[in-house]
Amino acid sequence: MVRGLDSIERVGVVGAGTMGSGIAQVAATNGYDVVLRDIEQELVDQGFETIDDSLARFVRKETITEDDAETIRDRITGTTELSHLETCDLVIEAVVENIDVKQDVFADLDRVTDDDVCLATNTSTLSITSIASATGRPDRVVGIHFMNPVPVMEGVEIVTGEKTSSETADLAHEFSESLDKTTWESDDKPGFVSNRILMPWINEGIRAFDEGVATKEDIDNGMKLGTNVPMGPLELADHIGLDVCLDATETLHSELGDRYKPAYLLKRKVDAGDLGKKSGRGFYEYD
Ligand code: NAD
Repeated sequence: MVRGLDSIERVGVVGAGTMGSGIAQVAATNGYDVVLRDIEQELVDQGFETIDDSLARFVRKETITEDDAETIRDRITGTTELSHLETCDLVIEAVVENIDVKQDVFADLDRVTDDDVCLATNTSTLSITSIASATGRPDRVVGIHFMNPVPVMEGVEIVTGEKTSSETADLAHEFSESLDKTTWESDDKPGFVSNRILMPWINEGIRAFDEGVATKEDIDNGMKLGTNVPMGPLELADHIGLDVCLDATETLHSELGDRYKPAYLLKRKVDAGDLGKKSGRGFYEYD
């Protein structure tokens, strides 16, 4: 059995970088005590700087008061000690996108936390099943994939591994909803829903720029104005982190190979006359 939402008071976050600091902030904002761990004190301090900057922006926008910001900040304890995660009721890992590092972290977490504690990963593309295999509790391991910037983005992708129990998946949804997020679920396939689709888009934007199709501004504006997205691919890649994009793209490439041929289903639908809204049917039905 996995520890349920009612029993979750203290949340551990492993990795105090872009995502870990955001997850810690959002958990604390929603009343959880948070233990934020990184490998060096300097990195923990940088995480707190990110949190302070973000909270200050919310104060300036008058979404929260200065007192709220202080209360939120006080709920977060920074540490470099693994043992400080012992008392956590749920732990979310947000370390670098490397399977060996994540498996080491999960083996450590499995050792130090209580047996019924859910261990979640914020991985963008790596297999939940493979990460879970480093533990003796694969049924209590799940992907809780936050979007960047965590305090601003509403969506959270829940990813179920081969052995993730339905109770653990339910907990992941409920916990994310308790952070005022909206969830969707993906099976444990490379890149899940979000990055399987997003990363080739970013990659193609980078290729288009490299091949001189247009200036970087025109590529970004073309996608923003042409497809109504808030950021173009190059702007978004910068925002995510080019290293994070490269790690994710390399995983997709090794797992999925050449993704640029027209999809078989696309050809089949066109042959069938299912052209989308204009014909009354594409992937959806229209009146
Ligand atoms: P980041 O490089 O900003 O931060 C990673 C942090 O993990 C660093 O501070 C590093 O010191 C720390 N770390 C490394 N090994 C550790 C260990 N053993 N114990 C504790 N801390 C350790 O990376 P990020 O952008 O925050 O990404 C973290 C995870 O979130 C990755 O899996 C990434 O794929 C995923 N993710 C990133 C984004 C994004 O837009 N950046 C979005 C969604 C998911």
